[in-house]
Amino acid sequence: MFKLNDNYLKLPGSYLFSTIGKKVNAFAAQNPDKKIIRLGIGDVTQPLAPAIIKALHGAVDEMAQAETFKGYAPDLGYEFLRQAIADNDYKARGCGISADEIFISDGAKCDAGNIQEIFSVDNKIAVCDPVYPVYVDTNVMAGRTGVYDSVKEVWSDVIYMPCVAENHFAPELPKETPDLIYLCFPNNPTGATITKSRLQEWVDYANKVGAVIIYDAAYEAYISEEDVPHTIYECKGAESCAIELRSFSKNAGFTGVRLGFTVIPKELKCGEVALHSLWARRHGTKYNGAPYIVQRAGEAVYSQEGKVQLKEQVAYYMNNAKYILEGLKSAGYTVSGGVNAPYIWLKAPDGMTSWEFFDYLLEKANVVGTPGSGFGPSGETYFRLTAFGSYENTVEAVNRIKAL
Ligand code: PLP
Repeated sequence: MFKLNDNYLKLPGSYLFSTIGKKVNAFAAQNPDKKIIRLGIGDVTQPLAPAIIKALHGAVDEMAQAETFKGYAPDLGYEFLRQAIADNDYKARGCGISADEIFISDGAKCDAGNIQEIFSVDNKIAVCDPVYPVYVDTNVMAGRTGVYDSVKEVWSDVIYMPCVAENHFAPELPKETPDLIYLCFPNNPTGATITKSRLQEWVDYANKVGAVIIYDAAYEAYISEEDVPHTIYECKGAESCAIELRSFSKNAGFTGVRLGFTVIPKELKCGEVALHSLWARRHGTKYNGAPYIVQRAGEAVYSQEGKVQLKEQVAYYMNNAKYILEGLKSAGYTVSGGVNAPYIWLKAPDGMTSWEFFDYLLEKANVVGTPGSGFGPSGETYFRLTAFGSYENTVEAVNRIKAL
């Protein structure tokens, strides 16, 4: 008889967003007359920018002609896209990342989940608390996290780094030494960010203890303040300790189109072995690349036209963020985030847990947010709202919350 990977059976409950989806669907079925506004899941709502649509059409037409048709993409991605990324995201910021250190993929979620495969199951991971659930759950599936304590909602072999108001939602260096450190800035769910000098401390620490930082910069495009690093490679020495994950989902609305990339500098080694070569092997063996038409669309993100249009799109969402932030502050809520990220992190009113507040907002204001506890124990009394809705819906949702 076959056996299962029983690590999957250790996963508690269902994935956060399916639980929310079920609750919202049940409410909608019982209250068909109510207009529900969803500011829960971090999905974008604006259509693709014209420069991207143009590139997609052009690439589709190429696929219609034998002379320009493209089959399998190169394992690690098309050179035109890798070079555009190296030039615009790294060289332009003074970072020495080259095109051949960039691996094109179909998004940051897969990369965030798969990257742990190239590390031993004996490695100890450290994560922020609260955290994007993918980092922990994929390590659970791999059997790296020990035993689950359902009361405290923590794993025995995971180092949790609380991100709370007192440390401005950026973690302190852990007491116990980790092997793999997941950091995400600007942060999902808190919307917080980290200063360059604090990130430099993390890089120095990782180099000192021989740890790898897996740095998720999916929300880089939302950074508005000076002194907030756009990439971890702005820090000295990051090439020897950090992997960076990036996505086209939030800067360019590719959540349904699917495109992302991972940077692994060749300098990043375990003894003599370059992690770059392991990830290249993995890509070559298990992945056949993001579609040509999508990679052409990704290239358009870096065109002059594309840059202007996407700046406007990001500004549209950040205008929503400002409305939420200011509206909730004026209603007496304690709020943070929303300045360098499309997420607003608010404290649930006194005495309410985050799921109680979720039910309260759904029932009384018909607004859907995300309970902070779904991201980890330190999120228990918090709640996440996203700025990814339409302006009209955002205004209506905030006004409904204010009126409660
Ligand atoms: N990383 C973080 C921190 C995210 O919040 C998300 C999506 O919400 C992703 C990665 C997923 O990105 P992608 O759509 O590229 O898979």
